[in-house]
Amino acid sequence: MVWPSELTTQEKGKHMKAARWYKAGDIRVEDVPEPQIDEDYDVKVKVKWCGICGSDLHEYTSGPIFIPVGTPHPITGEVAPVIMGHEFSGEVVEVGPSVTNVTPGDRVVIEPMDVDNTCPACKEGRYNLCENLGFHGLAGKGGGFAMYTTFPHRFVHKIPDSLPFDKAALVEPISVGFHSLEAGGFKAGMSAVVAGAGTIGLATVQSLQAMGATKVIMIQRKSIRQEYARNCGVDAVLDPNTCDVVAEIKKLTDGRGADIAFETTGAEQCFKLELDSIHAGGTVVVTSIWENDVTFNLNSICIPEKRVVGSIAYCNDFPKVIDLLGSGKIPATGFITKKISLDDIIEEGFKTLTGPEKKKQVKILVTPEKTLLKQ
Ligand SMILES: [Zn+2]
Repeated sequence: MVWPSELTTQEKGKHMKAARWYKAGDIRVEDVPEPQIDEDYDVKVKVKWCGICGSDLHEYTSGPIFIPVGTPHPITGEVAPVIMGHEFSGEVVEVGPSVTNVTPGDRVVIEPMDVDNTCPACKEGRYNLCENLGFHGLAGKGGGFAMYTTFPHRFVHKIPDSLPFDKAALVEPISVGFHSLEAGGFKAGMSAVVAGAGTIGLATVQSLQAMGATKVIMIQRKSIRQEYARNCGVDAVLDPNTCDVVAEIKKLTDGRGADIAFETTGAEQCFKLELDSIHAGGTVVVTSIWENDVTFNLNSICIPEKRVVGSIAYCNDFPKVIDLLGSGKIPATGFITKKISLDDIIEEGFKTLTGPEKKKQVKILVTPEKTLLKQ
């Protein structure tokens, strides 16, 4: 972007391009004030790549969900319009005087958690369960669909040179999948079922493979997403419309059923299949966000002592996922299906991901730096 020449001498007059959410169906790319470091521990980052997330799409089609409207967010103090984008990588350009973990020029990703640090969950160290949890890129005070953003140093993580900026934008969604393993008590040597070959499903598959699952079985209805699952090297892809998924999973697990299942679809049919696919004492981990209620008889949990547990976001997972991506143990191949400019985020991003071709896409990455599209 070229700065208007009359503004370059006046720091407070600096502007940048950003995508802001006004209301459902109304996201605008416009000029906004460039953020400045206003806390001693703030880090200013020049954004390289930022992924469009499923929750961004929900905000676009039927929000607000996480975006504060009317009442300011308790941590950011802001309301819509807010800058969107929470899955991003970038380069540090400036740091506040109290920042010790990064310096200008460092390549980084931001763990986009707005937390209060004072509630019981935060004091226990489980900051993903913060009573006032918000996400940078949804809760206000900046985000990744912009040229610059600022964030507290605690949540700014350096990335190794072996991890390119585009793949680094996947650290956030892959951390969601990675965290669900710990939430479910996964251990190396277990067999696993994953329902849904979207971003989080594929992230869960590659995390399971990296952490030593003996078998990974995908439940996915017929679409190009079955190909995406096969490309990740899963042991089987089962379509509930064409086979008896529970019987097939039993066959694949020596008649016993899987040790653990991961629900990433938000579909009742899949949840029930997963519950029936695990053996007595097994676990279903729910990572998906639900629009509707689910009805099932609790005897199906009680009598075989099965567990159903939730998993939300990530907590101390970023450093591990950065290592796994940097070393190639999580290859993260097959995720990035399209790259676009911030200028085209509505037509080529939000509309593509909510239109007839949406199943073809896994992750669309957006950059404010057009030269990156030519590399
Ligand atoms: Zn808290």
